[in-house]
Parts: sequence; structure tokens; C-alpha cells
Amino acid sequence: MSDLRELYQELIIDHGRHPRNFGKLNDATCHKEGYNPLCGDKVTLYLLEKNGVVEKIQFEGSGCAISMASASLLTECLKGKTKPEFEEIFNAFHQLVTIGNLSEDLTLKLGKLAALAGVFEYPARVKCATLAWHTMKEAL
Ligand code: ZN
Repeated sequence: MSDLRELYQELIIDHGRHPRNFGKLNDATCHKEGYNPLCGDKVTLYLLEKNGVVEKIQFEGSGCAISMASASLLTECLKGKTKPEFEEIFNAFHQLVTIGNLSEDLTLKLGKLAALAGVFEYPARVKCATLAWHTMKEAL
């Protein structure tokens, strides 16, 4: 378990320092800003949606490592997904960071996102981890 925890920490640090899909998307069909006043995290999501599928997704923003890593992992995870698929992942992710554990099925479904499970132990950071997710929910 501690090996897994270390791996998860490395993943968060890596995504926090080198966010994937970072930058403005010029052909976005929709963009949405989110702000977490508790920590000062800011995120803007850019989506290109076609026939109900998220074809491209990028983000810009600044904030703590958890908020940036979470936004980065979100963009990796949601490319090619539909709105119902997003909602399913959103619910599982929300459960993960607020309750701290999930069924094996859901953990598998979340893949790398399971790295944020540890956030559950730090209630003040839950808003950092979910900022991009709530922003995405508003965007769709
Ligand atoms: Zn934060």
C-alpha cells in the first residue's frame, strides 16, 4: 500500500509540475472558468464538443499542485468521452475524494485519477481536487 501511495504522490507531483493539455484551445466551442477562493486556485477549461463527444479539451490556470494535477488528469481522462460518461466518472471521482474509497470496479474505471484518493484525508483540499470537475460540469 505504501508503494502505491508513493506512486500516486509522484503522479500528482508530475502532473502538478508538468500539466498535460495546458494552454488555450483556439477552436474551443465552449470555455468555462472556475475559482476556488479557499486556496486561490484558478482554472479555465476549453472544450471542443462535436456530436456530444468531447473531441478536444485543454485548460489554463494557476494554483496548488493538487488543483493543477487534478485538472491535468481530468483533461487526459475526458478526451473522447460523452456527457453521460463524464457524469459517471464525476460521481465516482467525487465519491473517491469525499469518502476515500470505492469499489474495485469504480477504482479501475478511474485509472490514474485514483491517485487523488489521498485528498480525502485533507478535507480542506477537496475543493482543490474537485475545482476542475465542477467547472467541467458547468461547461457541459
Ligand atoms: Zn488548491
